[in-house]
Amino acid sequence: MIVTRFAPSPTGRLHVGNIRTALHNWLWAKKQGGRFLLRIDDTDRERSEARFVEAIRADLAWLGLMPDGEERQSARFDRYETRFEELKAAGRVYPAYETSQELDLKRKILLGRGLPPIYDRAALRLTEAEKAAFEDEGRAPHWRFRLGGDLLEWDDLIRGPQHFAAEAMSDPVVRRADGSWLYLLPSVIDDIDMGVTQVVRGEDHVSNTALQIDMFHALGAAPPAFAHEALLTGSEGKLSKRLGSLGVDHFREAGIEPEAVIALLARIGTSQPVEPLIDRTPLIAGFDFSHFGRAPARFDEAELAGINAKIVHQLPHAAVRDRLPVGMGEAAWEAIRPNLERVADAADWWAVIEGPIAASGEPEDSTYLIEAATVAAQIDWSADPWHALTAALKDRTGRKGKPLFLPLRRALTGRDHGPDMAALLPLIGRDRAVERLRSAS
Ligand code: GLU
Repeated sequence: MIVTRFAPSPTGRLHVGNIRTALHNWLWAKKQGGRFLLRIDDTDRERSEARFVEAIRADLAWLGLMPDGEERQSARFDRYETRFEELKAAGRVYPAYETSQELDLKRKILLGRGLPPIYDRAALRLTEAEKAAFEDEGRAPHWRFRLGGDLLEWDDLIRGPQHFAAEAMSDPVVRRADGSWLYLLPSVIDDIDMGVTQVVRGEDHVSNTALQIDMFHALGAAPPAFAHEALLTGSEGKLSKRLGSLGVDHFREAGIEPEAVIALLARIGTSQPVEPLIDRTPLIAGFDFSHFGRAPARFDEAELAGINAKIVHQLPHAAVRDRLPVGMGEAAWEAIRPNLERVADAADWWAVIEGPIAASGEPEDSTYLIEAATVAAQIDWSADPWHALTAALKDRTGRKGKPLFLPLRRALTGRDHGPDMAALLPLIGRDRAVERLRSAS
């Protein structure tokens, strides 16, 4: 059984980068018929907030990325304690008493000598008496994980073979002096307990993975597979600050459909083309880590808006009904849809159909429009009134092309451009059309 997880910290809203990670975890689980878990990483009690947990759930729901299960780290402290005790008994975690100033000093000395600032494991050499002396002083220890393997390696699903020499890394701190947990170890314990088979996350976690691989081994478990995706950058190619503030609220306010976000984020940074798909099936079926490149994926809001418009043009009435003005039915939606960039703009065109509109014709079109009103009152409205009207006017006036059509469009809609008049005119209807042609003349 394939199990993936999306593990946000509830310290803020999801942004486009997190959403992309969530989506890829979801796509992989769906493709494999597996499970997609939401894991709330709320070990940091100070910074985690209930409102962000709610917002994360709501954002995933809006995006249609429903988790198959939800876990919370704050509910699992007992479990972390148990596994921590095992590591302690096995000598894989050890207490360290250095203050942050002392650690800083050690780092500076090493750097000054041109050496990498790796922790010297001085705490491992403390005698029981020395430890007791620190405790008497009132110093509580923080805890480090003792790296065991020589070479920390894995075959990354995106980056290929990865090797880290353990001797080039510091034993990571896994628990603070106040007993609180840092991210690294609880995440490994969770991944083991929850049967996670693929960890899909940003490449900012690559060096964490080297450490965590060793933790899986220390806890007697085979590590899952890892896929580290290149980070997202703004359209300018920089890691833009703006990306961090772009989330579901922004998209919703900008009239962006969830499917547009999904269609774009599923494929940017991969070798597959971004397509305006309103159905996720091809995104799921075509998803593969082998399509991901190493270069940063570029997120461009203008591209998103373009995809969005193409998606809106395909949405069926049933999908948007709740967001349309009262009374706006399927025919009106289908007439108007090709002209929209956002569903909300349907209201503008509905107002054009319903009227009143402000339209005044050019003086030189006055006779033409009077004639058009007369013809409009006579034609058969049951079939295709626009073609009946324009064919009759062409015959009677000799006009064709723009001089034939544009004065009619202006008089009937008050605008120079818009939806296909053949689709719009039946919705405007005979009485309003005749009235508009007359009053514009
Ligand atoms: N809470 C971690 C983060 O937000 C999770 C990383 C992971 O996927 O393991 O970066």
